[in-house]
Amino acid sequence: PVTRVEVGLGARAYDILIGPGLVARAGDEIARRMAGVRCAVVTDENVAAVHLDALADSLGRAGVEHSAITLDPGEKTKSFGPFERVVDALLGARLERGDLVIALGGGVIGDLAGFAAGVVRRGMGFVQVPTSLLAQVDSSVGGKTGINTTHGKNLVGVFHQPRLVLADTAALDTLPAREFRAGYAEMVKYGLIDRPGFFDWLERNWRDVFAGGAARVEAIAESCRAKAAIVARDETEAGERALLNLGHTFGHALEAATGYDGRRLVHGEGVAIGMTLAHRFSVRLNQCSADDAEKVEAHLAGVGLPTRMADISGQLPGAEALLTYIMQDKKVSRGALTFILTRGIGRSYIAKDLPAAEVLSFLRENH
Ligand code: NAD
Ligand code: ZN
Repeated sequence: PVTRVEVGLGARAYDILIGPGLVARAGDEIARRMAGVRCAVVTDENVAAVHLDALADSLGRAGVEHSAITLDPGEKTKSFGPFERVVDALLGARLERGDLVIALGGGVIGDLAGFAAGVVRRGMGFVQVPTSLLAQVDSSVGGKTGINTTHGKNLVGVFHQPRLVLADTAALDTLPAREFRAGYAEMVKYGLIDRPGFFDWLERNWRDVFAGGAARVEAIAESCRAKAAIVARDETEAGERALLNLGHTFGHALEAATGYDGRRLVHGEGVAIGMTLAHRFSVRLNQCSADDAEKVEAHLAGVGLPTRMADISGQLPGAEALLTYIMQDKKVSRGALTFILTRGIGRSYIAKDLPAAEVLSFLRENH
């Protein structure tokens, strides 16, 4: 049972196929749509150990010529050194503009391989085979690619849309449980932004989403539709796309405050705490009912995600220091901040000009 979500961005529309077994079918899907292409698969050691053989076999059976580049796992791989390695390998294999870079992995591999595909020969073909839940519902949709620099994350990159995304929902069975939950937080985010029905559905069906099967496919498909809809309404990031940052202002500050130490906090966990805080902050500002904020926290905590700063292991810096991280993350004009707030579940909005003093006293109360 494969679900197809069509994404129409810019001049080019492409398909996201979602279902179990797609890694093993990738060769056929690619050969059928892009006859005669040659491919370079970019992946990391963790993913290669469990899924590269299946992908390579599938390409081989379909008669698709391919090679593979395997990188170290982790965020550090999204940087100039590994980027140069990938570019060298693509040119060394004499791939041409019409040939394909296939990203097999999580968001790190997708962002890096997509960036290489976007600039080598001024833009090669690109196919995503996302293997983390975060990559399937978030980073593989929208066309943003890039790497980090010493000046900060995601500062160098291009928009480069894939020709095809193959989200194999069974490939997620090898993902560590903590990574799965972290990706789930981004799914919940789409419900909280503007799909209250989806949030209700997740409350009823989350166990099946975690277990696999039809509910997982449906939840990933709905998440892709949700992100694609927001991106399509705001491809250039003028406004509405900011809604995708729900929970991320607090979340990024907490990631920074814990030194990006994945043992203490992974991105999706920061987002779970951040979304809870965004709802509580909205209650404090008389925008959202306390009932809705409690429902959100109960659901996130129910699946095993952290929801409070106190859930983070070790010492956190004080409220003032957290505010400094928030101000560094966000554009600040004369002491006022932009936040994603909410009028209730599925009714989030962009709040401009929030006084920093208001944020500080909220942080003090919730520290
Ligand atoms: P990741 O790519 O590091 O993957 C997480 C971990 O899971 C890694 O150790 C990886 O090796 C492992 N893994 C992945 N799939 C696996 C599988 N099926 N089985 C076993 N292990 C597996 O991290 P991520 O959370 O997928 O992505 C985070 C990155 O995505 C960040 O760099 C972030 O900036 C980026 N991102 C990009 C966008 C975008 O729009 N381009 C959006 C959100 C996030
Ligand atoms: Zn996120």
